[in-house]
Amino acid sequence: MSADNPVIQDDMVVSVEYTLHLDDGEQIDSSAGRGPLEFLQGRGQIISGLEQAMAGMAVGDSKDVVVEPAAAYGEFNPDANQVVPQNAFPQDMDLQEGMGMQVQDEHGHVMEAFVAELRDDDVVLDFNHPLAGETLHCHVDVVNLRPATSEELAHGHVHGEHGHHH
Ligand code: ZN
Repeated sequence: MSADNPVIQDDMVVSVEYTLHLDDGEQIDSSAGRGPLEFLQGRGQIISGLEQAMAGMAVGDSKDVVVEPAAAYGEFNPDANQVVPQNAFPQDMDLQEGMGMQVQDEHGHVMEAFVAELRDDDVVLDFNHPLAGETLHCHVDVVNLRPATSEELAHGHVHGEHGHHH
C-alpha cells in the first residue's frame, strides 16, 4: 500500500457506482443516473458485508459481492409486527401499504416501520427492514477515493464538495 495507489480502508471517503439485485434477479437499487454513492469507510454507513468486501479495493476496481441477510439488513423476524388501530394515526395521514414511517415506543425510542397491511380499522406495522431476509447481489465500481477530512471524521459522515451541508 502506498500513497500513489490508495486502497479502501477505514476513514477513507469512497465514491462507488453500484447496482443491487435480489436473488430472483430483480434490481432494487442503483446509482445509475444519480451519481456515485459517497460514504465514510469503517463507520457502518453501508451494509457490513459490502463494507468488508470493499476493503482493499482501489479506484477502477469492480467486484460482484453476494451479501447474506445477516450482513445486510438482518434476518426476517416474523414476530416483528404490531397491529395498531387506524385512529391512532393523524386523520390527515394518507396511509398506504408499503409506506415507511417512524414510530415511537413507550420509552420514546424512535423505530423505523412500514405499513405491511391496511385493514378496515387497523394497520399492521412491520418493524423488519423491507430488505430483511434478502440475500443481496451487489456490483460495485470504485470511482474515487480520498482521505476523509478531520471535520468529516469528527462528524462521522461525508461532507459535500461545496462544504458543510446536512
Ligand atoms: Zn457534518
